[in-house]
Amino acid sequence: MDVSLIGLGQMGSGMADNLVVAGHQVTVWNRDRAKAEPFAARGAKIAADPAAAAQAGTVMTMLADDAAVEAVVFGDGGLLAAGPGLLHISCSTVSVDLTARLAAAHAAAGQRFVSAQVLGRPDVAAAGKLSIIAAGAAEDLDVAQPLFDVIGAGTQRVGDRPVMAAAAKVALNAGIPAVMQMLTEQFRIVAAHGIAADRMVALLLDVNYGNRLIGSYGPIIAEQRFEPAGFPMRLGRKDVGLALAAAGDADLPLTELIASRMDAIIEADGGEQDWSAIGQ
Ligand code: NAP
Repeated sequence: MDVSLIGLGQMGSGMADNLVVAGHQVTVWNRDRAKAEPFAARGAKIAADPAAAAQAGTVMTMLADDAAVEAVVFGDGGLLAAGPGLLHISCSTVSVDLTARLAAAHAAAGQRFVSAQVLGRPDVAAAGKLSIIAAGAAEDLDVAQPLFDVIGAGTQRVGDRPVMAAAAKVALNAGIPAVMQMLTEQFRIVAAHGIAADRMVALLLDVNYGNRLIGSYGPIIAEQRFEPAGFPMRLGRKDVGLALAAAGDADLPLTELIASRMDAIIEADGGEQDWSAIGQ
């Protein structure tokens, strides 16, 4: 199909490459035109501005942040200037506020808008294996699906309003630093007793730690099934205390925070609830 890709940075360049290789009629636009030139040699057209790129009828944007997306959509020669009929597929990680404004502005211009958030780093984008979290009108997502199938390994549709994908993406990203902090603290605990971090990584992968925890605790927390407890808060607090003691002088700010939350719950008579009530 005819499709334009706007934003040829680390992620967008790999996505554009895959669309070209898959045989789509690709037009590209990038603020710094030098990044667009190599795509001409591969058979893509280079648009003069975003509004010209919109003549393809379907535009994917992969831009740095809110300001970049605002410039490309609301600016001079932006997507809104292209007139009715356009389908804009927004892949950049941007705010839910901007996503809501984009949905309203495109609708007012007689255009269609979906959010298609991506998980995966630039090497994953280049390999066409992104995980896509999409939201918008089902008929618009159906139009976009062949493009998702090229840039991604799978698509999850999370709702009929684009903000739903934006919210899912920021929630997913908020968890990543929490996991990175958790790993750092786990490595500190075992390092105090001679286990190297890479050995701990192998152990975590071998026991399928991430999926296992989300698989067991995700449904309990989603359904708020904290009683009867499979493992009560008072025993969980004991184990967190054991970890703090095992770490010696190592700095464990996340574990300390969790211990103090558990103490507060136990003090409020929550000691017999399942320890998955930690966030309540
Ligand atoms: P990047 O390499 O920095 O590319 C940013 C793109 O935005 C470039 O094409 C840049 O154009 C353009 N841009 C920036 N400001 C602009 C403006 N004011 N007007 C027009 N264009 C502008 O970033 P990236 O890693 O590809 O990330 C793109 C988006 O994907 C971000 O929202 C990011 O959070 C998200 N994301 C990234 C990753 C990752 O691992 N990198 C993973 C998932 C999602 P110029 O070339 O002219 O500067």
